[in-house]
Amino acid sequence: MANPESQKTCALCHAELSGKYLASYWGDAYCLDHAKTAASCSYCGRFVPYLTQKDQKRMVEPISCDTCAAGAITEAAQAIELALPLIEWVETLGVKLRQKKFKIEVLDRADFLSRKGGRHDPLGLTMSTRIMRKNKVERAVVDGVAFLQGMPRTLFSGVCTHELGHVWLVQHKILGLPITEEEGFCELLAHRYYTGLDNDSGRFYAQRIAKNSSPIYGDGFRKLHKLEARVGFEQILKSLLRKKKLPL
Ligand SMILES: [Zn+2]
Ligand SMILES: [Zn+2]
Ligand SMILES: [Zn+2]
Repeated sequence: MANPESQKTCALCHAELSGKYLASYWGDAYCLDHAKTAASCSYCGRFVPYLTQKDQKRMVEPISCDTCAAGAITEAAQAIELALPLIEWVETLGVKLRQKKFKIEVLDRADFLSRKGGRHDPLGLTMSTRIMRKNKVERAVVDGVAFLQGMPRTLFSGVCTHELGHVWLVQHKILGLPITEEEGFCELLAHRYYTGLDNDSGRFYAQRIAKNSSPIYGDGFRKLHKLEARVGFEQILKSLLRKKKLPL
């Protein structure tokens, strides 16, 4: 049998690789110079053929590799099918929704970006209305959750779990958290989901959350993750429900 090392080829251009080469998270090998010339998938980082970084900058839509494009979520019916078991799953963590029926939509980029009435994440959006009485919020209602179309299934499920965090916060009138804490809480749920998958995709997206350099999402997650390690997830939920803020 031939030594597999001796016949390593580039996953992008199929050139034979000798000496140094790039190794992706997914175990693919690439020519070194693709790091400078080739575009990569917006979702998983794999290199995408026939698209240079210059082309990529001109494009508005995210770039999807074949692996991510296969089975990507493009319609509401697919999103609803994936969302229902996720609602059941967050409830097993104690994140109990008051109202489980709300509109779920999958939108193209223009529609997604122009949609108003909620907190916009890069890939998902939870829309809500506050019913006021004498300058106080009497009730807060989730009108719906919208997603950007084209996400691969695993990513979609994590983003959906994140949005369910927002849904829970709204439905329990926990509306005054600093943005870093609110996003950190939702990222904590998504991270838990990805970790629980115990597969390569799950680990990839969990790592992306943990290493996110964003001062809102990344720092928020790291703050909540530390807090969870110290007081436990249950205590975080209790404090949010009773005091509308995180435990000290
Ligand atoms: Zn190559
Ligand atoms: Zn991809
Ligand atoms: Zn969010």
